[in-house]
Amino acid sequence: MEKMSKEIVLANPRGFCAGVDRAIDIVEKSLEKFDEPVFVRHQVVHNKKVVEDLEKKGVKFVKEIDEIPDNAVAIFSAHGVSKSVEDEAKNRKFMYFDATCPLVTKVHLEVQRHARKGRDIVLIGHKGHPEVIGTLGRHPADSDTNIYLVEDYEDINKLEINSSEIAYVTQTTLSVDETKGLIEALQVKYPQIIGPSADDICYATQNRQDAVKQLSLECEIVLVIGSKTSSNSNRLKELAEKCGTKSFLIDDKSDINIEELKHATSVGITAGASAPEEIVQEVISFLFPLGYKTVRNLSENNESMTFKLPKELAD
Ligand code: SF4
Repeated sequence: MEKMSKEIVLANPRGFCAGVDRAIDIVEKSLEKFDEPVFVRHQVVHNKKVVEDLEKKGVKFVKEIDEIPDNAVAIFSAHGVSKSVEDEAKNRKFMYFDATCPLVTKVHLEVQRHARKGRDIVLIGHKGHPEVIGTLGRHPADSDTNIYLVEDYEDINKLEINSSEIAYVTQTTLSVDETKGLIEALQVKYPQIIGPSADDICYATQNRQDAVKQLSLECEIVLVIGSKTSSNSNRLKELAEKCGTKSFLIDDKSDINIEELKHATSVGITAGASAPEEIVQEVISFLFPLGYKTVRNLSENNESMTFKLPKELAD
């Protein structure tokens, strides 16, 4: 009997976004341009392979800038940093570049603008995520207003804000659908609350979530390539599961559960915004001997967003 044909389906868009491209470029151009050691505060983007490759090229990753010597070149990760970290860097004698994604910087500026206008601010985001720590740290220390972090409906229920002027901002890599619900709950509790026209979730997160929904409808299993620390990759796995499709978050082919894939006839692949395309191609090659014979792209990748490098590093 002829073996049933097994198919690999690729989501589009997938993988690197403009902010990740820019952050990695900043690190690589710094390595090329300077003789000094290059230090990066926090993982420049949340991906194991990207970090390992940069370490091999000589980058040293540190948790805090007090670990960076004076004669070094320092880089802040794509997730952004609080004002106090930036101030500390300015007071030190090293050269630094800010690889914060411009879409995260946009949220930082919203926080500062709301505080200037006398508004209390609600930040929707994940406690402990570096982007959230950075955004909370952009609320001016001398402001009379407050900033509150909420993660879920329970946090919103517990909120006690007495101000008549309230605004919300969001982390850039949240679940689009869940955030919509949380914003609606805030609007019910505080009808005067204002915010961006929709939310601050970035184009890359939105597009990858739209694509994984479509992928989940067409495949028995969805593999999301991304690291456990990557917020947007975790959201892709959760979304595929919410659509009723078994999903696995994998760093690379070594994390693949072969037994699961043996019995499926279609497997979808997507990649978080910090996951390199190289791993997608390695996973495809790994699947061929398991009987997967065809590869189909779900749609064209129409993303064309790019962000400029700091002028000192531009060619
Ligand atoms: S995921 Fe969005 S916010 Fe994060 S670096 Fe990419 S474009 Fe910027």
